[in-house]
Amino acid sequence: MPYSFSFSPGQSPFQLAAATATRVLLVDDEPRLLSSLAELLKNRGFELACAASGQEAVDHLSRSPFDLVVLDLDLGHADIGGHGVMDYINAQDLDVDVIVTSGAQSIDAAIGALKRGAHDYLRKPYPREELLKTVDNAIKHRHLQTENRRIAAQLESSERSYRYLVDSSPDIIYTLDAEGHFTFINNRAQQLLGFSRDDLIGKHYSTLVHDEDLERAHYVFNEGRSDYRLSRNVELRLKSRQGEAEARTFNNELMLISMGPRKRPPGQPATFGIYGVARDITDRKRADELIAHQAYHDILTNLPNRVLFKDRLGLAVLQAKRNDTRLAVMFIDLDRFKLVNDTLGHVMGDELLQQTAARLKACLRRCDTLARLGGDEFTAVLPELANRQDAALIAEKFLECLKPPFLLAGQPVHISASIGIAIYPDDGKLIDDLLRNSDIAMYHVKGEGKNAHAFFNASMLDASSQKIALEHSLHEALAKGELEMYYQPQVDAVTGKIMGAEALMRWNHPERGFLSAGEFLPFAEENGLMIPISDWMLDAICRDLLAWNTTGCEALRLSLNLSPQYLDRGDFFDKLQRALTTHNIAPTQIEVEVTENICIRNPQTAIEQLDKLCQLGVSVAIDDFGTGYSSLSYLHRFPIHTLKIDRSFVTQIQDDSAQFPVVLAIISIAKGLGLNLVAEGVETAMQASYLAQSGCTTMQGYYYHRPLSHPKLLELLNIQQQTSVRATPVLAAA
Ligand code: C2E
Ligand code: CA
Ligand code: CA
Repeated sequence: MPYSFSFSPGQSPFQLAAATATRVLLVDDEPRLLSSLAELLKNRGFELACAASGQEAVDHLSRSPFDLVVLDLDLGHADIGGHGVMDYINAQDLDVDVIVTSGAQSIDAAIGALKRGAHDYLRKPYPREELLKTVDNAIKHRHLQTENRRIAAQLESSERSYRYLVDSSPDIIYTLDAEGHFTFINNRAQQLLGFSRDDLIGKHYSTLVHDEDLERAHYVFNEGRSDYRLSRNVELRLKSRQGEAEARTFNNELMLISMGPRKRPPGQPATFGIYGVARDITDRKRADELIAHQAYHDILTNLPNRVLFKDRLGLAVLQAKRNDTRLAVMFIDLDRFKLVNDTLGHVMGDELLQQTAARLKACLRRCDTLARLGGDEFTAVLPELANRQDAALIAEKFLECLKPPFLLAGQPVHISASIGIAIYPDDGKLIDDLLRNSDIAMYHVKGEGKNAHAFFNASMLDASSQKIALEHSLHEALAKGELEMYYQPQVDAVTGKIMGAEALMRWNHPERGFLSAGEFLPFAEENGLMIPISDWMLDAICRDLLAWNTTGCEALRLSLNLSPQYLDRGDFFDKLQRALTTHNIAPTQIEVEVTENICIRNPQTAIEQLDKLCQLGVSVAIDDFGTGYSSLSYLHRFPIHTLKIDRSFVTQIQDDSAQFPVVLAIISIAKGLGLNLVAEGVETAMQASYLAQSGCTTMQGYYYHRPLSHPKLLELLNIQQQTSVRATPVLAAA
């Protein structure tokens, strides 16, 4: 850039020239004049060049740029002349100023030179001051021109750079007129919202503001229009061309600006508009919302978590108190979820929880809250409850919705739930009491056989604290010798003879008397006591079996219940074999009872273990047949000898004129596969006769015998042995 300084009129151009080395070409064919001209201008900071002819001048001009030419017009006849030089300058469009000098006689030549664009004209002979002044003026003029050009260029480039800055601002920048119409908006609106400048200029801001935020926008855009210092922030969602759903959130910083002409005619009121900068805070907002959401929701199911649940429950309690209404708190715990999780893995377990959450949620009204407290525990609060029965209906709806199988990796899985219900204010007025009491009611359902609901009642409190106490003393029960094996005979309904017996564990509790297995073994399963207890059981039944055999009942078969945990351990086979050898007992006298669930838990290991048992001569029964998850396919793969018809199916036999298809189906499966059958929980003669007539003749149940202590069983066996008399009711052969 040749002139980068700013020029002030007070400065001498010679001083300027000194600073910038103004290049001056002196042209005259008279050597004396040329050298006196050079003498006059030297030491003034110019860079001087001299030419004695037009041709020489053109040579100089073609080689390097000049700022000023002092040109004699009369350069002799042979030369191209002063006009020729000017023609060359014009033809080449050189940026140089020309001062022409010429003798008095040729005024025409001077006019011709001025027409060709000469800056000034000096008539020879000229006083030296006049020449200096003319040169001074020419250079001053030139500097002014250059400066003007520079300023113009600068203005243009600064206009461009402002526009560039405004358009490339990360924010939307806009102005609104007094009526709220866009008078300016930068390009960012196009990128962020899809609206071009043309779409918006002249439009009212309400075309851009999200409908739900309009009221707020009207308020801030109109408020304080007369207050000149107005400057405020407002958060607004702005619509996107893609539709409402794509709306983005902006923080708008607004400033009031004067819009009218700078000088108003008197009496004309000032008009104000708004200058706004809208910063896109959508991402930050979403991140904030996500963090807030995660703090109050369970990530897996997206349901409210414990914190939010308690909050909602708190509000619901307040409302119920104010309106004098009731509300229900439900505690929903999935049954045997741990089994599914252990069997199919955590990924499937998570999937099951998600599907469960969706099904449960679909049963509720909008005002109800379903939450996941963790694991397989869900809770619900049902505000504005008309009566207790409504809560029962919802609970049944929950249970019903879980009935259809869940598809996990294409595999159908069944699950049920135990639901406890506590009602405000009957069962508690504080949220913690309500939660705890619904939990206690839920545990009560678990104890009663699961897959049902129960309302809390005060007697459960007692039961639950007793359970906790039991759990503690179970640890010592083994060491103190408080466990005992009882035996429930299995009877042939036709002959009345005892064919075998199932070993059932009892706990002779010092304070609470005899506890049946169902009352304490679930704790043993939960806290790892199942292994030592089962070890003890193996030894106990072998000793008892030896005693049976002394009565001459070698043919009697003893069934023992095998805990899945015990089978999982892998050393069960060795332990059993060792116990049988130690007590000299034939493996054929033993039958192990397993439930269907062990077959889906770890089928390969289960098959291997059961196969080994079979090879030894031990037989295998499926306990509680028909109540588990498994399909019938495993019956082919597992080495099975006996099916036990579950008590729940036997109990249904209430009327011997009716048909009980499940019982009949189980009997026909067993017959088809050549398996033995045992009916469990036979309590009435009618049940016995229906079963026997349908083809199941081996019975176990209170109708024949309750589980008996070992001495009692021995007594019974002795009588049977000695008298060979039928000790039990006999049915006609089927
Ligand atoms: P299970 O194998 O289905 O045992 C049958 C249960 O039904 C026993 O309960 C028995 O007392 C009961 N019962 C028998 N006949 C009738 C009847 O006519 N009516 C009624 N209402 N009930 C009847 P118990 O002894 O409480 O055993 C519960 C469960 O505990 C057993 O179910 C079995 O799975 C498990 N279990 C029992 N003893 C042992 C054991 O020594 N080891 C293992 N691992 N599990 C055991
Ligand atoms: Ca059993
Ligand atoms: Ca059973």
